[in-house]
Amino acid sequence: MPRSHLFAPEHEEFRGTVRRFIDKEVRPHVEEWEEAQQFPRELFKRFGALDLLGLKYAEQYGGTNAGVIYEAILFEELARCGSGGVAAGIGAHVAIATPPINEHGKDAQRQRWLPPAIKGEKIVALGVTEPSGGSDIAHVQTTARREDDGYVVNGAKMFITNGVNADLVVILVRTKPEGGHQGLSVLVVERGTPGYSVGRKLNKLGWRASDTAELVFQDCRVPAENRLGEENGGFYLAVSNFQWERLWIAIGAVASAQRSLELAVEYAANRTQLVRR
Ligand SMILES: Cc1cc2nc3c(=O)[nH]c(=O)nc-3n(C[C@H](O)[C@H](O)[C@H](O)COP(=O)(O)OP(=O)(O)OC[C@H]3O[C@@H](n4cnc5c(N)ncnc54)[C@H](O)[C@@H]3O)c2cc1C
Repeated sequence: MPRSHLFAPEHEEFRGTVRRFIDKEVRPHVEEWEEAQQFPRELFKRFGALDLLGLKYAEQYGGTNAGVIYEAILFEELARCGSGGVAAGIGAHVAIATPPINEHGKDAQRQRWLPPAIKGEKIVALGVTEPSGGSDIAHVQTTARREDDGYVVNGAKMFITNGVNADLVVILVRTKPEGGHQGLSVLVVERGTPGYSVGRKLNKLGWRASDTAELVFQDCRVPAENRLGEENGGFYLAVSNFQWERLWIAIGAVASAQRSLELAVEYAANRTQLVRR
């Protein structure tokens, strides 16, 4: 299939490198990981060692500053790996969970959280959806009450990709009960914070190798310094990455359809019954 004019020779060289890595180190294991309903957390470190988790981020935080086209190629190649779950887990870390820290974090917050995430040493999840619903994020019900120098969080998040293994979860919470979409804020909660727990790992029909969880917050105290952006400005912060999030899913869907077509053509061409004698 002819490639878009967006891809220059250096992009295709990068694609080749990613494809070889996935062919060698990911595809041979995907059936086992889908069966086990998880892939090893060391895989994040392998992606990190190959500089694949910080393609859009500045070098001072450990990224390569290569840009969105390189990240789009990563998503295309991930979608060809044979496991939607692996593509979802690595993809969620890169495409939805770390961007709010990069785009809305202060320098000290980026210095603290981005380098270990870009190395794959810390896994990051994004927690927006709740048991009551996901489409209408202005109705988030998890509350964060201001107390002393922080917030006390109560509520639950549902269907959170990387939720069981996450070292950091970026959550959308309600900081002003009457505020509608103007009463939301974004907090980064670290694993081990008292009151933060994994409610359950969820079983799924597809994307089985990805870890999807319900997260529970019970009187969970989060320091104010863990807030990204302005208090009550969280709605805008959360939706600011929606375009890239949707493109990530769309890019993966098209690449996966392309791979399915290639496999079908290959099978039809080589199936003994159909070969003309
Ligand atoms: C495998 C998986 C992984 C996920 N990972 C994450 C994650 O990492 N982080 C996260 O925050 N969320 C995650 N989600 C949640 C996902 O973002 C939500 O499922 C999605 O936002 C839809 O929310 P919902 O499932 O609650 O459906 P609902 O919002 O309850 O919607 C139900 C149905 O009603 C329709 N609908 C909703 N509102 C309207 C309306 N106003 N008008 C007409 N129709 C409407 C919807 O299109 C849908 O068909 C994940 C979900 C899955 C299944």
